[in-house]
This record gives sequence, structure tokens and C-alpha cells, in this order.
Amino acid sequence: MSNVRVRFAPSPTGPLHIGGLRTALYNYLFARKHSGSFILRIEDTDQARLVSGAEEYIIKALDWSGFEVDEGPHVGGPFGPYRQSERKSIYLQYVRQLVDSGKAYYAFDSSEDLEAMRRQGDGHVKYDASTRSSMRNSLSLDKQETQRLLDTGHPYVVRLLVPSGRSISFQDEIRGEVTFDTIELDDKVILKADGLPTYHLANVVDDYLMKISHVIRGEEWLSSTAHHVLLYESMGWIEVMPKFAHLPLILKPSGKGKLSKRDGQKFGFPVFPLKWSDGPDGSFDGFDSVGFSPDAMINFLALLGWNPGTEQEMFTLKELIDTFSIEQIGKSGARFDYEKALWFNSQYISNQEAEDIALAAHPFFRQEEKNISIADLVPICALLRDRMKTYADLPGLSHFFFDELIFDQNTIRKKWNQESRSHYENLIVVLEEVVDFQPETIKQAVSDYIHTSGIRFGDIFPLLRIALTGDAKGPDLFAIAEILGRQRAMSRWKEAPTEFDRIIQSSENQSA
Ligand code: GLU
Repeated sequence: MSNVRVRFAPSPTGPLHIGGLRTALYNYLFARKHSGSFILRIEDTDQARLVSGAEEYIIKALDWSGFEVDEGPHVGGPFGPYRQSERKSIYLQYVRQLVDSGKAYYAFDSSEDLEAMRRQGDGHVKYDASTRSSMRNSLSLDKQETQRLLDTGHPYVVRLLVPSGRSISFQDEIRGEVTFDTIELDDKVILKADGLPTYHLANVVDDYLMKISHVIRGEEWLSSTAHHVLLYESMGWIEVMPKFAHLPLILKPSGKGKLSKRDGQKFGFPVFPLKWSDGPDGSFDGFDSVGFSPDAMINFLALLGWNPGTEQEMFTLKELIDTFSIEQIGKSGARFDYEKALWFNSQYISNQEAEDIALAAHPFFRQEEKNISIADLVPICALLRDRMKTYADLPGLSHFFFDELIFDQNTIRKKWNQESRSHYENLIVVLEEVVDFQPETIKQAVSDYIHTSGIRFGDIFPLLRIALTGDAKGPDLFAIAEILGRQRAMSRWKEAPTEFDRIIQSSENQSA
């Protein structure tokens, strides 16, 4: 495919939702697969909905996800500006062209007029062929009156004249042929009273001027496409109209209904790539702030709606680029399964270098633990990487290295007695004598003792473990001992009996 140019065209109305990021991802994969260009265009013509910080957030989120933007407001490019609010004069020229050729018209209706029109028929009435002649516009008013209103600065909008009795068809790359009857379409406003174009006009003009080859966007824009096709026709651009692909919705975990921005808080998982702080509707966690690797998030998102056609689940971005095709995107909604996202992340973490995990997990340690260095964390990450679902799990999983131990009292009550005590004390002597304090040698010393003394492994080993970690279960004890180092491990082993005695004592007191 030659000259592939795709755009991601978000409106900066808040943090980028995970569905929007998936749209960006599919555009990015498609662009790279076909050696084309990936363009970021900020669609900010609806000034009332702008949220400060949203554009920066979008750019950061794309960057965190690993997408390189070829053209955009922050990197420039030959088809700029890439922020629609900076392209006002460009749009005006095309609006004029449409009005002059009779494809669009001025409308002077007040909001009360519009309200009255809508009230007529149970709210189903549209501004269209059936109503426009009874409204105040350049089609219903005579030329002089129209001119007078324009000359006196009467507020107006420009509407697209939707022809009656036609059907509009286009080929959707995912859904096949899609047809709308013009009776279903209203005369959309294309220029607002504030002199800025609406989404529809700006989107079409920019896709044309920026030579966009494929429009890959969410399903919610499918019904607007009929208007867009009409605009391409009206402008005389139908021959170069981009191809359309409308992506399936991302559904709630229940599979019922679209995943919304509020669902994150409702279900307790992130629906944004990055944390969003102090926006007008509060702060939200992101995949970053709950401890995801961006690669895992991307892998998860790629499979929400696209099926590689094989059993393969783990993909690097490079592999996604090589494998991706629009034909394998499904038509029906994809259920957002957070457990699956966690599974991907755990797979990524267990395949990562301990150094990289340490770097990513370090920010999740609490302020008071901040003296823990990244270097300190490296061996701990090597030990615990198979148990982590997110980087944020590390402080909890590794607490016994840093915090005071909380002993498993039940196991101590079951296992700590005269006999186990004397074996435990013998074992301490054996452990003291281990020359090379390495997991294998420590393990060998402990097993040799257990063999020769005839004690059962299960009677003594849990006590050794509790002495080092507080818990009767957990990762390889001998590796933990090595990480603690001879000195700390030995002193924990030696000090534990006093604590064990105290626990036995207090439970005897309680039952007395
Ligand atoms: N500005 C629209 C949005 O926020 C763009 C839709 C499109 O890609 O055409 O999603």
C-alpha cells in the first residue's frame, strides 16, 4: 500500500481514555506496517469543552506507549498547523465555497426557535428537509433579508444542505458496505456562531488537506460518516476520500455497555494510560500509577478487538506491527477484562531483567522506605518477579526485607516445642558454620542436618522460614537468606526463639 497516512485526532477534553489509546495504537500499527505516517491532530474546535493539560496528557500518553509521532503540534510537519484552533481561516474559506455552491446555507434561528421546533414532534423532529422551510435561514428568507441579517451582524450558523431522497453508501474496511438514507440525516451545523467550524467540517477538511489515506476511529463516529461522505461529495473530493474503518467498542467487564470513563472508579481498575491529577472531575489512576509496563498494556490493548488469527498472545510492538491487519479487527465489542491485563503484565515482568524491574518498582516504595536503593532491589526483583502482577506489588511482597516481621502465630503454636527447639538450636550452630553463605550451601547444610537427625522437614523448616520472614510460606528461603546477608540472617535466626517463646507464653496465658 503506498502513501499510507493516518491520523489520531483526539479532542483535548480530559485524559485520554483507554479506548482512545487503542484507536491510536491501531492507527500507529497500520502506519508502521505500511511504512506510512502517523499524525497527531488536536481537534479543539469545541472551545467550551477544552480542559487544560489534556493535550500535554495525550502527547505524554502516546510517548509512554512507545508511539513515535511523525507529524503533530509538538513535532511539526509539512501539513500544519496540527491544532484545529489554529486553522480557523482555512475552514472559513471552505465554508464559503459550500455556501456559494448552494451545498450549505446560513441559519439565523435563535435557541428558542430551535427548541420550539424540536418540541413539535416528541423530540424526534430534526432540522432537515421537513422543517428547514419553516425556519429562519437563507433558503426560507428572501435574499435581501438574508443579506440584511448578515450585514447587521445577526448571529448565524452555517448548515450542510442534506439532499432528500438519497442514500449514502460507503465501504467500511471492517463492516463492509454501510448505507444511510438521507431522511435519517439532519442538516448538520458546519460553522458555529463563534466562527469556528464543528467537528464534521474541520475533520473532513483536515483529512483532505493532510492527505489522510485511512480514517481508523471508534464506532461512535460511524453515523457521522454519512455526513462526512456528503461533505466530500459537496467539496468535489469524493475521488480522494479516505478509506474508513470503524473500530468495535470496548465493553464493560460484564460485556454489557460501553466502558466509560467513570467505570474505572466503579470497578477499581484504571481506564486511562497515565495518572490524571486534579482535573475538573478529580484525579484518576492510570496504568502507569498502578504499576503496569507500557509494553504489557499495549499488548493487552492490541488484542481488545483485533485477532491475530493464531494462538499467540504475547507480542512486542515490533511483532504487532508485523502481524497487524485491519481485516482481522472484529465487528463486535471487546470486553475489557482487567484480570487479563494483569496476566499480561505479570508475564512481562517475569521476563524482564531484574535491573529494569527494580527501576520501575522503586517509585512504589513509600516515602519512609525511600532510602532503599534501586541496587538493593535488584536481587529482590530477581527473587520475586514471578510473583508480581504489577510493579506496585513489590513493596508488599518484599516487606520482610525492610519492615519489622509479623510472625505467623498459628504455625509457631503448632511447631514450637521442646523437641523442635533443640533441633532449631542445633541448626543454628550448623548454619553458623556454613563457610560460603550461598543458597546451595545453606540448603545443603540444612538438609544434611535434617537427614542425620531424623526430624521431619515440615517440623523444622517452617520455623526457619518464619524466623527470617514472619511467614510460613513464600519464595525460596535460602535465596532470601543470601539477600539478607549472613549477618542479618543469622541474627534473625538467633533472635527468633525469644519471640517464639513469647508467643507460646501469651497463648498459654490466654487459655489459662
Ligand atoms: N475528535 C474526534 C474524537 O475526539 C475524532 C474522531 C475521528 O477520528 O474522526 O474522537
